[in-house]
Amino acid sequence: MNPAPHPVRLWQGRERYTVFDSAYGDGSRAAALIAAWRNDPERPARLHIVALAEGLLPGFHRIPQQDPGVTLDLLNAPLDAALAQLSARLDFIQLSGLRGPNTGFARALARLAAVDARLVFDWLEQEQVAALMAQGFIFEGGGARFASRKPRPVLPAMPARKAIVIGAGLAGCAAAERLCERGWEVTLVERHAAPASEASGNLAGIFMPLLSRDDNIPTRLTRAAYLYALRYWETLGGIGNKIEGAACGVMQLARDADHAQASRAIAAAGRYPREFAEWLEEDAATQALGLPAPDGAWLFRQGGWARPGSVCEAMLDACGARLTRRFGAGGVHLERIGDEWEVRGADGVIARAATVVLASGAASTQIAQAARLPLSALRGQVTHLDAATLPQLPFVLCREAYLTPAANGIACAGATYDLDADPRLRAASQQENLERLRALVSSPTAGVDAPLRGRVGFRCVAPDRLPLVGALPDFDAAGSTERLREVPRHPGLFSLLGYASRGLIWAPLCAELLAARLENEPLPLETNLVDALDPARFVLRARRSGRNPPMFAPD
Ligand SMILES: Cc1cc2nc3c(=O)[nH]c(=O)nc-3n(C[C@H](O)[C@H](O)[C@H](O)COP(=O)(O)OP(=O)(O)OC[C@H]3O[C@@H](n4cnc5c(N)ncnc54)[C@H](O)[C@@H]3O)c2cc1C
Repeated sequence: MNPAPHPVRLWQGRERYTVFDSAYGDGSRAAALIAAWRNDPERPARLHIVALAEGLLPGFHRIPQQDPGVTLDLLNAPLDAALAQLSARLDFIQLSGLRGPNTGFARALARLAAVDARLVFDWLEQEQVAALMAQGFIFEGGGARFASRKPRPVLPAMPARKAIVIGAGLAGCAAAERLCERGWEVTLVERHAAPASEASGNLAGIFMPLLSRDDNIPTRLTRAAYLYALRYWETLGGIGNKIEGAACGVMQLARDADHAQASRAIAAAGRYPREFAEWLEEDAATQALGLPAPDGAWLFRQGGWARPGSVCEAMLDACGARLTRRFGAGGVHLERIGDEWEVRGADGVIARAATVVLASGAASTQIAQAARLPLSALRGQVTHLDAATLPQLPFVLCREAYLTPAANGIACAGATYDLDADPRLRAASQQENLERLRALVSSPTAGVDAPLRGRVGFRCVAPDRLPLVGALPDFDAAGSTERLREVPRHPGLFSLLGYASRGLIWAPLCAELLAARLENEPLPLETNLVDALDPARFVLRARRSGRNPPMFAPD
């Protein structure tokens, strides 16, 4: 009898190799695989491990790895649900502990299996073997081989590993870093002389998860982004070290008794680990904060604040020599010449590449190919306060507004949401921030006589407040398409836009998702979450509602 197939014998000479394991367990099998990959001179350039794991929050989790050639995705979901939401081409499938009548996974595996993929198992019921055979798996030796003649969906051709990224804020710097890590040559084009000069230029941004009773798509997306960002920042050197800020926790006060009641229901349904989200009743919240918390509060212990500019700097440092900075290059426009995009500025051609990523924030609709995206620039003013005049906070504190703990003697209170385009600081916005601040810290005198100090920025906001990650739709060529996958796109032109008020946490995961897509890797998110970020969603929504893409409307 032939021995059971093993990835190490099969991956040699391959460019990339993807292993699916239905039971991550204690991680020892994945660790052994990675060790074997490291030690094999004939290893594939990229190894992807996708494994079902328990003990994590629900959903897909991409776990950053030391080796840039390795990705590890842990999926906390039942097998059938995980496979149904997985975008990957599997070369090797390990099934463990599948006792029971379930055969639904066979069809999903057949959708994901590469031609000639191998399957091994510790046990399969007869019905499961039959279901797999019906889907094209041939059992031989100690395993099975996928030999379906059904045509496989063709993966997009891998572009040359060369890209132009427009915009050096959180979105663009993360894109540059994720692509350089994968061996891409990146030209980062920015109209200012330095990175993080626009929305990403605030002294402090806060990061925390979002909760909801029905664990809806925005909640699941922000959870995935938040958890990935926490892990990713560690790889850059960590918050409070390489990155200016503090993972001091965020306390979110309940607005009123109804909000508290809803929060209790979320806490009971979510059963979150304490470090992720803990609901505190009035006494506990007041004691932890040292200030009144009359309706209770959420405590997000891993949350905190960071200076976005320092995150950008850390990401650019991590790019190394593969990054070319073309800063101070304004008036950019794009022209398609042959198979490439030519990016031109006021002084002529800046760069050419087959792949361009628009990470240009609130100004993006000035670029012709993005002009019809339904993005709005939403003004926000943050107030900078002398921390000595305020209560000392153990956490970031928030409700309708937020207050950060002191850094260099300054606490940040914010931020306003305004529809006008005034770039100057104004007293009325400061007043708004201070009134909310007084309610937040239960002090009628907080910030009294504070001088007009702070910063104005413009958030880039889509009507559904979710980012736009993926190939840019060609609105003019869209015709009457009904499915996302059929919407015509500008070839090689991608967006990382619409990070609204959560740029810190969106930037790492959205950049990782785009890089994974460009490389035909397994995607780090569930398919329905990937689709929720697809910029082409607005083409379909506009068609369904029979009008042009909707513009942003404030709540
Ligand atoms: C007041 C305020 C408070 C906020 N608070 C928080 C918070 O607490 N937590 C949080 O996570 N997020 C917060 N945000 C949101 C966060 O700042 C943004 O989501 C994030 O900075 C967006 O990053 P970005 O890279 O998409 O955009 P930007 O940082 O604006 O970067 C876009 C870059 O593209 C450049 N650019 C544009 N067009 C061109 C062109 N044609 N050619 C060359 N360069 C171009 C711009 O100069 C700019 O540098 C806040 C935002 C504001 C305004």
